[in-house]
Amino acid sequence: METKRALVCGAGGFIGSHLVRRLKKEGYWVRGVDLKHSEFSQTAADEFIVGDLTDAGLCKLVMQGGIDIVYQLAADMGGAGYIFTGDNDANVMHNSATINLNILHAMQVNGVKKVFYSSSACIYPEYNQMDPDNPKCSEASAYPAGPDSEYGWEKLFSERLFLAFQRNFGIKAHVARFHNIFGPEGTWTGGREKSPAAMCRKVAESQDGTIEVWGDGIQTRSFLYIDECLEGVQRLVNSDFSGPVNIGSDEMISINNLAKMVAEISGKPIAIKNIPGPLGVRGRNSDNNLIKEKLNWAPSIPLKVGITKTYEWVSEQVAKQKAK
Ligand code: NAD
Repeated sequence: METKRALVCGAGGFIGSHLVRRLKKEGYWVRGVDLKHSEFSQTAADEFIVGDLTDAGLCKLVMQGGIDIVYQLAADMGGAGYIFTGDNDANVMHNSATINLNILHAMQVNGVKKVFYSSSACIYPEYNQMDPDNPKCSEASAYPAGPDSEYGWEKLFSERLFLAFQRNFGIKAHVARFHNIFGPEGTWTGGREKSPAAMCRKVAESQDGTIEVWGDGIQTRSFLYIDECLEGVQRLVNSDFSGPVNIGSDEMISINNLAKMVAEISGKPIAIKNIPGPLGVRGRNSDNNLIKEKLNWAPSIPLKVGITKTYEWVSEQVAKQKAK
């Protein structure tokens, strides 16, 4: 059988660098593109191009040489500290939309026929996520639209863009809405980190037995370990289903309980101090009915298993930084 050739856009990022490793294990030839290399590991890609995908010329260039599938993960993004302050709205919308427009146009010009696009749970309307105990995130509930961030609005626009290219230009698109993916080699410091990594860092760094947690801590989320995210992506692209479909865990937890879980794993006695901070919606959980129906599969690894591996990795990073 001929080797399949994959292009991973955003290959220097958290999910992208793990995806490259997975594709290599599956026998793909892989070209990665990103503004930067991964901070934490050597890329497993056969070819890695450092470049800016807002540049339409670069997008055309990287599509050359017979690409069978594009994984489009590149986006200007971050955790709540980046997305919900409002300070980065113009960049988030402009940069990510430009990347998606360029990539689809370059696929069309070069005759590349299949693409995976990573959308986000952030597209779901705020009005369905006011009750931390009963958020509604079934795929069909995306409309009437009402995301609570410009990041979410851009993702919703781009989902439609990928599906429009599928309708009009014969490009097979697979769209997933990721729900809080976490694991080793995710951003853990600097302001763009997500809550699981942030909690692990705060606990690992804590000297006085307290950590600060944004909000009242009653807000809920679910978190999906990276390996299961990639399993979902591969199952989706190997199916006929285009989505959009949730790829997330349905093990919902409050942020204070997440902090307590990390503290328990660390073995440190930790008290939580809730402080004001950027938050996002009150509650969010993945609804996995559609993925079960269409792919006959849904994530099932308990949160604690992934958090244990992530805490180990983050505490190593904290120790390395201290030793510097
Ligand atoms: P990440 O920030 O680690 O990776 C994104 C990568 O895109 C980065 O390495 C960045 O350098 C690259 N990039 C940004 N602008 C670029 C440009 N102009 N040209 C080339 N590369 C550029 O994020 P991630 O967590 O790996 O997320 C990957 C994708 O999944 C993103 O599209 C994100 O919106 C989506 N997503 C992630 C999560 C999550 O929890 N991690 C949740 C929902 C959706």
